Amino acid sequence: MSALPITHDPLAQWRQHSEPWYLPVGDEVASFEAAYALRLPVLLKGPTGCGKTRFVEHMAWRLRRPLVTVSCHEDLTAGDLVGRWLLDAEGTRWHDGPLTLAARHGAICYLDEIVEARPDTTVVMHPLTDSRRVLPLEKRNELLHAHPDFQLVVSYNPGYQGMHKQLKPSTRQRFTALEFGYPAPDAEARIVAHEAGVEPALAAQLVALAQRTRRLAGEGLDEGASTRMLVHAAGLVRGGVAPRAACLQAVVLPLTDDPELIEALRAAVEASF
Ligand code: ADP
Repeated sequence: MSALPITHDPLAQWRQHSEPWYLPVGDEVASFEAAYALRLPVLLKGPTGCGKTRFVEHMAWRLRRPLVTVSCHEDLTAGDLVGRWLLDAEGTRWHDGPLTLAARHGAICYLDEIVEARPDTTVVMHPLTDSRRVLPLEKRNELLHAHPDFQLVVSYNPGYQGMHKQLKPSTRQRFTALEFGYPAPDAEARIVAHEAGVEPALAAQLVALAQRTRRLAGEGLDEGASTRMLVHAAGLVRGGVAPRAACLQAVVLPLTDDPELIEALRAAVEASF
């Protein structure tokens, strides 16, 4: 009896098994498809929790590509992205990092919050973003030519500029960019109602609250309530928490520690519910 061949799918963990629901807010789907057709790298700009990650998940599904996601942070090294030699029972073996895996096998690689990574880490992706589409794996003495289906997508929040690190011009100029903002009120209410499974009326009240908090942005508050926060608050209400308490827990307290701002936000909650 001959044994069945063992097929190993190196991207198995990065394949999505159902369609991520995404409500388009403009022409971003067509814009992304046009960039993908040319395999141009894409930079998604916008405040935290406004739908960037959900959008790229949805696009990977539409384009039938696996999505390799990396959340960037300041301890992320080039080796974490590219790969390294590791010692195991059989000796030293090379392990592709997520960027290499995506480039080798033709996935979309999504680097979330790219500015959180140090510049010496982000620089490794540069040769993948121009017409060469290569990734030098120096430790392995290999020049990897990216798979034809590979695409690089990164996200970043321009609201943090100045406070935090910035994206270097030599990095940002390699990308085409799509700008995201909070969805228009009707669309945002539909998203909250869909995601948390709540009535449209409650979703609309939460969106009204979010708009009040967003007016406080810049006046001490770094950023107003995100769509993500509204989904959390709606979920708490659905689970039985009273609306004002849910907003305190999911919106007000996560947004700030400043006592005056907390009071201003509490007043916004009371005006909304
Ligand atoms: P970001 O990556 O911008 O920080 P996410 O994509 O994680 O934000 O969005 C946070 C949540 O908001 C998502 O999990 C989803 O529930 C919801 N969301 C925001 N915008 C949309 C949208 N246009 N369609 C569907 N869900 C959305």
